[in-house]
Amino acid sequence: MSADGDAERDTGPVCDDLSSRQAALEMSAEEFRATGRQLVDQIADFLQSLPSRPVNPNESVAELAALLPDTSLPQDGAPAGEILEQTASMLFDHSLFNGHPDFMAYVTSSAAPIGALGDLLASAVNPNVGAWSLSPMATEIEKQTVEWIREAVGCSQGYGGLLVSGGTMANFVGFLAARKAKANWDIRSKGARGGERAMRLYASKETHTWVQKAADLFGLGTDAISWVAVDDQQKMDLVDLEEKIAKDREAGHQPFLVVASAGTVSTGAVDPLQAIAKICEADDLWFHVDGAYGAFAAMLPEASADLQALARADSIALDPHKWLYTPLEAGCVLVRDAQFLVDAFSFHPDYYLFEDEDEAVGDEVSEPSGQGAINYYEYGLQNSRGFRALKVWLAWRQAGRKGYIRMIRDDIALARALADKLAQQAEIELFTQNLSITTFRYLPSRLPAGLSAEDRDEWLNELNRDLLKQLQSGGGAYLSNAVIDRTFVLRACIVNFRTTLREIEKLPQRVVEIGRGML
Ligand SMILES: *Cc1c(COP(=O)(O)O)cnc(C)c1O
Repeated sequence: MSADGDAERDTGPVCDDLSSRQAALEMSAEEFRATGRQLVDQIADFLQSLPSRPVNPNESVAELAALLPDTSLPQDGAPAGEILEQTASMLFDHSLFNGHPDFMAYVTSSAAPIGALGDLLASAVNPNVGAWSLSPMATEIEKQTVEWIREAVGCSQGYGGLLVSGGTMANFVGFLAARKAKANWDIRSKGARGGERAMRLYASKETHTWVQKAADLFGLGTDAISWVAVDDQQKMDLVDLEEKIAKDREAGHQPFLVVASAGTVSTGAVDPLQAIAKICEADDLWFHVDGAYGAFAAMLPEASADLQALARADSIALDPHKWLYTPLEAGCVLVRDAQFLVDAFSFHPDYYLFEDEDEAVGDEVSEPSGQGAINYYEYGLQNSRGFRALKVWLAWRQAGRKGYIRMIRDDIALARALADKLAQQAEIELFTQNLSITTFRYLPSRLPAGLSAEDRDEWLNELNRDLLKQLQSGGGAYLSNAVIDRTFVLRACIVNFRTTLREIEKLPQRVVEIGRGML
């Protein structure tokens, strides 16, 4: 008999009284109330203390592993309140905080506290938002959340979509909708190689790496991506795009998709979306916009015409866990007509008893007829689905469109203020400023003598790489990096409603001091 068997016997007879169970995971209302209050109190203190904590604990794997309970899988349980109290302290004292005012890295936002409460509420009800009948109220809330997102970015009525785990998944869904819509054979039964011609897609070199994952995972292979050059502002080069499309057609391939970015992940560049929309319309190509970072900036009345042109896309990936500041995870995809999603994902046409399918495709909403209920499992990759819409919906309601415009505008203004401050520093070289991303590098007033131009570039790259590591481990401020034309630059991305001018003003000096110290 194994140790497991012994443990089972230790729990006593299994079936003596099933009329009143003592389930190990049940909590009385009283215990839940007390435990929950204690946790909420701890979280409130934590949020208040954030600015005085280091952004990054900078501890080693070994140090962190040593904090975990010193046991193999526990055989016996423990009181919930105790475990939660300990765990909360462990996380508060040993985490990297993207909600810290000095955190300005990647595109990782501070999380709205109402989102944390929303997740608690969502988990408490635990609807399975895969099917309407399993989540009636939750599905309606998700539907409204998607509608609000559509309205916010200016897409016309009729666009539909769903929430997913993040930008990568949102882009995947757009990609799969495009693949199905543009294949001139039955790609869902014959597969990606089932046609006479090879499908080709176009993406700039600045596109986020999800596009390689998608081409690989969904059967086209990464060689199906035609990499379009960018101009000196990291925007897609239209001449190169048109040439590559024409060349592929000549070679007998089937161009089907252009992937554009509304805010590239490295520098926040917005591709010339108006012109790309035109090319796609003229050439019968699917126009997908990766707006995981920048799409919500289209809400600003002062948004550029190109940013606003994302509303002309066939599909858009957005990321509420970025510029809507909801806690991870929440992505969203919009498509011109939700029917494209059903076409790409549904394996259960019995649920969609349209009287006339052709008519239903053109309808303003493609919901199942009869009861008007959406079953989200037919819209995407997931089957069982959590209620991630709730935190997004609650945050919209708390902030309103005006509140969001203000927060996004302030983030952009702070990134510009940072660029201005950096430009005044003799030992800083400013590179780019787009949306809320500012890139720059430390450039010492004196460089080692006798370096060739190439060695000089490599030396500066190395210096800035080390500087970034030192800055990150210092716990004072947290930036990330970008590589622009093979130059390693520091990158501040402000998607953080807690960052103020105070943090911005400290940053140039911090960088210069670390830089000087390294020489
Ligand atoms: C963040 C980002 C992604 C990936 O989104 P995840 O939520 O991290 O999966 C894709 N594209 C762009 C432009 C991004 O900024």
